[in-house]
Amino acid sequence: MRLWALRMTDFEATRRFFHLPKGMIYLDGNSLGPLPKSVPARLEAMARDEWGEMLITGWNRAGWMAMPRRVGDRVGRLIGAPDGSVVLGDTLTIKVYQALASALEMRPERRVILSDSGNFPSDLYMADGLVKSLDRGLELKIVAPKEVADHIDETVACLMLTEVDYRTGRRHDMPALTTKAHKMGALAIWDLAHSAGAFPVDVLGGGADFAVGCTYKYLNSGPGGPAFIYVAPGITEDVRPALSGWLGHEAPFAFDLDYRAGAGIDRMRVGTPAMLQMAALDAALDVWDNVDMDDLRARSIELIDLFIAEVEARCPAVTLASPRDGTKRGSQVGFRHPEGYAVMQALIARGVIGDFRAPDIMRFGVTPLYIGEAEILGAVGHLEEILNTNEWDTPVFRTRAAVT
Ligand SMILES: *Cc1c(COP(=O)(O)O)cnc(C)c1O
Repeated sequence: MRLWALRMTDFEATRRFFHLPKGMIYLDGNSLGPLPKSVPARLEAMARDEWGEMLITGWNRAGWMAMPRRVGDRVGRLIGAPDGSVVLGDTLTIKVYQALASALEMRPERRVILSDSGNFPSDLYMADGLVKSLDRGLELKIVAPKEVADHIDETVACLMLTEVDYRTGRRHDMPALTTKAHKMGALAIWDLAHSAGAFPVDVLGGGADFAVGCTYKYLNSGPGGPAFIYVAPGITEDVRPALSGWLGHEAPFAFDLDYRAGAGIDRMRVGTPAMLQMAALDAALDVWDNVDMDDLRARSIELIDLFIAEVEARCPAVTLASPRDGTKRGSQVGFRHPEGYAVMQALIARGVIGDFRAPDIMRFGVTPLYIGEAEILGAVGHLEEILNTNEWDTPVFRTRAAVT
């Protein structure tokens, strides 16, 4: 690990980029990133000067139509994707479906979609729905995360995995699993929801065929921000978009009655993109211009190691749910407690924001762009007090809200 002093990233400067509510310790940037200070002005300007003044001409004059590609390239740089291989739009759930439908069509003779029980349920639900719609004997095979490699064989059409487990933070070995998939003739789809902006990712070097992710977690685009999809440059022209919307057409404004896929990654566009959210993402991405991803990774591991050491020394009632080896984690850490939900509510009442994932995991995102030692030590101090005094043990904290 490099020495602190040698880091190129100024984490005090990146912290100043964000609006962080006074008195709050925000450890949930893995679910919804905080507001970059530049975003409200950008949204206002977009609404007033572009939407307000240009109206429909904004699609050309303000470059709206090109934005899903242009901003896609900016996201691409964070995940090791070459320019022109990433496009933005829709939500992650839709992008999962799109990638999977295309991959299955490229392996028509194979029957198995291989995923794991650590995957985010929405990804599995989409696969299940697609299997039912296609009705051609496909099987969604869900195995334990540790057993994925053993189940990659010649029956597998595609591997569909989320690199970082949303609950425990356990990280798959993307290059190794992808290599094995390719060796067996399968395609690999990677969901980078908890990877993009969390640590260096190399989709091209790692050989992913498809990669998808959202931008409202570590990329701070705001609630409902656009998702992204990457298709490996070598296969893009073989991909038939199952969601064949007009903006993925070769010539949307020819208004032809037949569909012809657009050139390159543009074919993965579907319909009219949410431009205000796209503008928010564009402004939010400015912070990365001054971030060295290796610095970010080193700092994240350092902070989580500190978090684990402090919790284990001071809070014997909880147990670590995440890998102890920092290189095998994403940028989040989970701790188990039988009453984890109530304990998390007590933390939130004190202004320490993490979240809870059933059945018993308290989850904390550690995002070095705006989190440092003071926040980690503060959070552990509150947790220790809550556990020592049983402050969590009240009906108010035990009652589940709709969003946990
Ligand atoms: C956050 C997350 C989603 C959410 O998808 P949306 O369409 O944005 O609601 C899906 N999959 C994974 C792996 C996630 O972490």
